[in-house]
Amino acid sequence: MRVLVLGGGVIGVSCAYYLSEAGHEVELVERQSAAAMETSYANAGEVSPGYSAPWAGPGVPLKAIHWMLMQHSPLVIWPLLDPAMWRWGAMMLANCTAKAYAINKSRMVPIAEYSRDCLKALRASTGIRYDERAQGTLQLFRTQKQLDATAKDIAVLQQYGVPFELLDRAGFVRVEPGLADTQHKFVGALRLPNDETGDCHLFTQRLAAMAGTRGARLRYDTAIIGVEREGDRISGVRTQAGLLNADVVVMALGSYTPLMLKPLGLRIPVYPVKGYSLTLPIVDVAHAPESTIMDETHKVAVTRLGDRIRVGGTAELAGYSLALREPRRATLAHVVSDLFPGAGDLARAEFWCGLRPMTPDGTPIVGPTPLANLLLATGHGTLGWTMAAGTGRVIADLVSGRKPEVDLDGLTMARYRR
Ligand SMILES: Cc1cc2nc3c(=O)[nH]c(=O)nc-3n(C[C@H](O)[C@H](O)[C@H](O)COP(=O)(O)OP(=O)(O)OC[C@H]3O[C@@H](n4cnc5c(N)ncnc54)[C@H](O)[C@@H]3O)c2cc1C
Repeated sequence: MRVLVLGGGVIGVSCAYYLSEAGHEVELVERQSAAAMETSYANAGEVSPGYSAPWAGPGVPLKAIHWMLMQHSPLVIWPLLDPAMWRWGAMMLANCTAKAYAINKSRMVPIAEYSRDCLKALRASTGIRYDERAQGTLQLFRTQKQLDATAKDIAVLQQYGVPFELLDRAGFVRVEPGLADTQHKFVGALRLPNDETGDCHLFTQRLAAMAGTRGARLRYDTAIIGVEREGDRISGVRTQAGLLNADVVVMALGSYTPLMLKPLGLRIPVYPVKGYSLTLPIVDVAHAPESTIMDETHKVAVTRLGDRIRVGGTAELAGYSLALREPRRATLAHVVSDLFPGAGDLARAEFWCGLRPMTPDGTPIVGPTPLANLLLATGHGTLGWTMAAGTGRVIADLVSGRKPEVDLDGLTMARYRR
């Protein structure tokens, strides 16, 4: 098949790689001059099937009000006059029930776990390196109330057979020795030993190069202007480099996917939820993190990536604005200094933001559409790095006429029309 992959983030590149590996003739179109220059550039680095859960859940609306009032708030909402944002917010609220949470989680976990297994297999078959570590993730609790609240999360982990460890201070310092001097700030931790970490940007760029070696054409610096439809098919993709066509089109444009779909008469509830990160060079290895540590109070993740520390977090509803806001930087700097004082050089930190392509139910949109030759791979929200390899495999299987190893019921856009 001749396949056009639109978008060169971690999702598009994973699709392009697995499609080329399956023997298809692949062309990837990306407006930036390289792969993974937008949302896949500097995320928090967690490959975390263990934490694959929707943001929308019972109790979240109340918690959201509390978060917005905090000094270092994990949630910021700009009251924009944007109907798409309010529609999305209303759909998210409707998903804050125990029933919806259970359904959404049951759709997210299988693709996340499958994806982690695909990533392991990819490492074994290609030797790809990306400052990866397989040392689990640690969620740190500052209060007994937070620790007690884990009972609910633990019940869910048990339900899905996800291994976990509940650790006291001595326990979490054993896995994260860099917390020895700051351990008194925390009452305990929950560790998911099967989670992994790694640099999504490095991974995506290297995987793109591997796709290129397998024959994929990587068209960078090429903006897509629009997609043309004839009946129930895509007839062409208008780009800066002219009209491109193919047997199958895979759309993986992250937060921009709904804008490209709208003129085709297709609607998906994907909205940009902005997040920020700081990347610091390590200057004191003994006090640096080993893997990912999630500060439950601030919802900020601190991750070791080779000789750097990545600090990522915040959810900001601000439309498509990419403005770097100083208060968000202050929150990230506060958390990393509070947990690992002096471990990294904040003066040399790189400050970044990206737009998570979020669905209101937290579940990505992967698979067929009402148009016969259009597949979607988008809406991965907070977990695009975690779910990328699995998404690429599913798309390659669909194009190859093979049954994907993950059940697609509940993952396609059809769920929004029921
Ligand atoms: C602060 C933060 C922390 C995060 N932490 C984690 C984490 O720890 N673990 C995890 O699993 N996930 C995490 N995520 C989420 C993850 O980064 C995203 O889900 C993932 O990067 C989305 O990938 P994508 O390929 O769908 O989108 P993108 O990376 O945005 O790729 C879409 C591509 O489409 C291109 N494009 C768009 N429009 C056009 C056009 N018109 N023409 C040509 N090209 C176009 C863009 O240039 C872009 O390269 C985090 C996100 C943020 C912001």
